[in-house]
Amino acid sequence: MRRLIFSLSALLLLWSCGENDNSPQAGDADIEKMLLSMSIEEKVGQMTNLTLSTVAKEVNGKVQLDTAKLRDALVNHHVGSLQNVIGHAYSLEEWHGMLNTMQKITLEETEHKVPFLYCIDAVHGANYVYGATLFPHNIGLAATRNLNVIEAGAAITAAETRAAGIRYNFSPVLDVGRSQHWSRFGETFGEDVYLVTKCGAASIRGYEGNNVADPSKVAACMKHFVGYSTPQNGKDRAPAYIPEIVLREYFLPPFQQAVDMGTHTLMVNSGEVNGVPVHASKFLLTEVLRIEMGYTGVVITDWQDILKMHERHQVAASHKDAVKLAVNAGIDMCIVPFDFSFYNDLLALVKEGEITEERIDQSVRRILKLKKELGLFENPYIEAEAIKNFAKPVYYDTALKAAHESMTLLKNNASTLPLSPESNVLLTGPLADSLSPLYGAWSYCWQGDNESVYPDSLPTIADKMKIANYVNWKDASLLSKAQQSDVIVAVVGEKAYAETPGNIPSLDFDQEQVDFIKKLSKTGKPIVLVLLEGRPRIIREIEPLCKSILLAYWPGTAGAEAISDVLYGKVNPSGKLPFTYPRHASDLITYDHKLLDEAKEVADPYSYNFEFNPQYEFGHGLSYSHFGYSNFELSTDTLVDEGSLVVKITVTNEGPYDGAEVVELYTKDRYATVTPSVKRLRKFEKVYLTKGESKRVSFLLTPKELEFVDQKMHWNAESGDFDVLCGGLTKSFFLKL
Ligand code: BGC
Repeated sequence: MRRLIFSLSALLLLWSCGENDNSPQAGDADIEKMLLSMSIEEKVGQMTNLTLSTVAKEVNGKVQLDTAKLRDALVNHHVGSLQNVIGHAYSLEEWHGMLNTMQKITLEETEHKVPFLYCIDAVHGANYVYGATLFPHNIGLAATRNLNVIEAGAAITAAETRAAGIRYNFSPVLDVGRSQHWSRFGETFGEDVYLVTKCGAASIRGYEGNNVADPSKVAACMKHFVGYSTPQNGKDRAPAYIPEIVLREYFLPPFQQAVDMGTHTLMVNSGEVNGVPVHASKFLLTEVLRIEMGYTGVVITDWQDILKMHERHQVAASHKDAVKLAVNAGIDMCIVPFDFSFYNDLLALVKEGEITEERIDQSVRRILKLKKELGLFENPYIEAEAIKNFAKPVYYDTALKAAHESMTLLKNNASTLPLSPESNVLLTGPLADSLSPLYGAWSYCWQGDNESVYPDSLPTIADKMKIANYVNWKDASLLSKAQQSDVIVAVVGEKAYAETPGNIPSLDFDQEQVDFIKKLSKTGKPIVLVLLEGRPRIIREIEPLCKSILLAYWPGTAGAEAISDVLYGKVNPSGKLPFTYPRHASDLITYDHKLLDEAKEVADPYSYNFEFNPQYEFGHGLSYSHFGYSNFELSTDTLVDEGSLVVKITVTNEGPYDGAEVVELYTKDRYATVTPSVKRLRKFEKVYLTKGESKRVSFLLTPKELEFVDQKMHWNAESGDFDVLCGGLTKSFFLKL
């Protein structure tokens, strides 16, 4: 049962034999012809990606192209792609005007008329297009455990992005969220590699479909390859130290799945892994990614990261050296993004023979193939068919379903929720009447925090919960009004942030908000806490003061309505935590930890017991109903090589409401040559059950799903005893290989 992974020496041998990548071969006659006709300048221009502010400015909130600068980029420097916004989102019409002008200049004024490509971060909906629908961020989507809704949301994102004229989306994040401090944790699908792999694949299916030429699809970008999400100091773009065994077991699989699906592009991790900036790592970008994993698409750098190899990582003594290092490591396109430094230095390097033209051709071939597959050669301008897909009212239904299903009820003592419409509810809290904490990062602007650029019509929670009595959290009358209420709903959490500005020194909850909850608790009224946050902030002190806690993440356009629906019982919550909610800011252990992560030694008179004791476990999430599990059966007690095991279990809605339950199947390898995790998620299925209804759920397990990366870096399963855990029940089988 071994899946061979090339050893480094074998890879080097392949490299020296010239079998050095999987770039599209000379099979595509059109592309080869084009390549032959292009100058080195044109090729280097195709590899150059600039940001919009290099060719435009914003005047009174409207974007204005500077046609002289635009011509300098597109015509004189042959730049093949641009990206981003300057300060905030634009209307559909602004996008159309701008992109058609760019394409017209490219097609009418450049010699070989290679169509121009625009790229954007549409990471939870077309977040830079006014009028588009925004979905919960990935962390909330993962809580839904509903792959259909993730795919449907991504398909809408693709359609609205393409309607704006943009065909390349820098999404999804496939980084596995193993560091809860990290400011981009909310952009991940959580801490479990299987969950991230499944959700990431659903997202890519939604973006790309079967054919990215389709006017409702975009090219996806799996990012950020690889190891970005576990910075040692918890900060964004910081060094990570990841043993190869861990890299392979926990960080590569979502990317491998995306590669196998034929995902068109990949973005590189801005950080460094084991002392090597990933942009400089030929090992990761060529040997692992291209040769071993079989990736054939475009590799794009992250923002300014070649320059950073010189200025920040200091692995290159000059920008030019950095360009050489990164291109030889395997990058195809560089987000420069402010000038022609990459263009100039790469051109010089090719002319000086420091980088071969063949190497440049590999990259340009991939870029041209991407453009061709996106239909840009046939339909380079804004497509009428695409525009029809913009802002369909039905999109809201998908956003609402996603937001509903993401709501994760962490605590509900004394059935405080659902609220009765008759009860006197006091709604308060710093985030109850604001928008940006509902939307989070990448919402109408990069940080998502500037509500002055949000559309006017969006509702806050206070707007949606008109039936409650909203009182500003700083209002002098708050406590007396709270005294008169039956229940207090307090909306707290984090303000929006993105990337490095979201760095924090600790996961501790904001002290002012902690004090606020303490003050409210003095009224003796039951408190319902609504948490809006992109990462788990420590609630240990306030948790006992609250009867109910609803985690809403960053739920997007339909977030306010979804929160109100769940609080009032119009919708039964079904979200499940996609991460382990820590109890202490420095006790960050994932659910799939090793036994030694828990100290369990007693040496009389001392006890060293230190149990795994998070605030809430991965997979936790209550319903207003409750679900019973029974008739747990395995089809065999011995699983053999090439064989399979069918696991069946009955789940019954035993409570008073219709609802949904996520059936999760875990395995535990009892003994292995690499220490086994306490358990690993292997399968899940969300089932919808009316009250009293039962369903038989079955899962198929094969030996392949029990493999782990062994000491020789091979995926391998070993004979031995395994436990299968589901719904609090356990069965065992023997794996015989
Ligand atoms: C982020 C990427 C993003 C890129 C392009 C970077 O700062 O790290 O995730 O795709 O900007 O806007």
